[in-house]
Amino acid sequence: MTIYLDHAATTSAREEVLQAMWPFFGDAYGNPSSVHGEGNVPKQALERARAGVAGVIRCRPGEIVFTGGGTEADNLAVLGAARALRHRGSHVVTTQIEHHAVLRSAEQLEREGFRVTYVPSDRDGLVDPDAIQRAMEPDTVLVSVMLANNEIGTIQPISEIGKLVRSRGALFHTDAVQAAGMMALDIESLHVDLLSISAHKIYGPKGVGALYVRRGSPLDPVLFGGEQERGLRSGTENVPGIVGLAVALMLAESEREAEAARLTDLRDRLIGGVLDRVPGSHLTGHRVRRLPGHASFYLDRVSGESVLVNLDMAGVACSSGSACRAGSTDPSHVLIAIGLTPALAKNGLRMTLGRENTAQDVESVLQLLPGIVEELSVAAAIR
Ligand code: PLP
Repeated sequence: MTIYLDHAATTSAREEVLQAMWPFFGDAYGNPSSVHGEGNVPKQALERARAGVAGVIRCRPGEIVFTGGGTEADNLAVLGAARALRHRGSHVVTTQIEHHAVLRSAEQLEREGFRVTYVPSDRDGLVDPDAIQRAMEPDTVLVSVMLANNEIGTIQPISEIGKLVRSRGALFHTDAVQAAGMMALDIESLHVDLLSISAHKIYGPKGVGALYVRRGSPLDPVLFGGEQERGLRSGTENVPGIVGLAVALMLAESEREAEAARLTDLRDRLIGGVLDRVPGSHLTGHRVRRLPGHASFYLDRVSGESVLVNLDMAGVACSSGSACRAGSTDPSHVLIAIGLTPALAKNGLRMTLGRENTAQDVESVLQLLPGIVEELSVAAAIR
């Protein structure tokens, strides 16, 4: 049986989620926008799901917009907010370590005439709130900084950044796709105006997410059509997916503290074990300010890709960085941003733990990894 250590890429939908989704593929198949009776049950389910998500992040149900995933939520936040505020200014601030869903949206804004400042992080992947403040200009309309990084797990001081961004009158977006289920997402203490989440990282279905939009925040839609989701996300709602997202998020929240403590313990054993037993391995990301289940490294002499192929053959699934980069030979932009050379930035190895992992899994990986890295290092040396 595979030891799955790639929960930052995706998770399996849990049984309770599947059970909750099932009726909406069957008897309750109606379109929530329909006026006739078949639309009622899905419409009510949609609004219950909205209230459920709002309960976890402590906002009003009307501030939740369901989307087709984390990428779409990020695109809507970045493109939608900047475009809606164009009359006020044309400068946007983000960071060099964001997910491509944010970075590519920022690049699109540049093509539309916006100026974008990409703030660097330090070697641990931490973004300095003062650096954000310094990057802001009088016409900055939007700042986007992720809550936790998908490649290196570092958790940003979002609350501090949010306070100062909002005191300067700009909108503040955070990509909380990796943080959801692992950290409290209370929007008041985070001081955010926009926050993205995705269901498939929290044991929900793929292709569904949500964007929190603080009441009164200007936002242009990026999709046009039937005006669903208050005109912010046209398209017939993915009712089973949305129900699944809400159930997944509520379950994750109810188990969060205990599960985060358990995963932190496993993570620390894994990190300590790798650094001890694998010569030439180095931690990436912050040692303490990191996601509970997130262990990431770079290796001096062997590529992440070759290690993960060998681990895969031995029954361990992990990643060399973000899932979106899988198959790409480009060095990771995040590892470059934290100061690695392009050559070393190809040597990333990410192991992300989740619900089904045990201490035995960690021990098995620690038994396997040193031999694999040793063999690959010898092979690399004689090449
Ligand atoms: N943002 C972050 C930080 C992510 O890790 C991911 C997925 O890897 C996304 C956004 C995109 O989410 P989705 O896969 O739901 O489009």
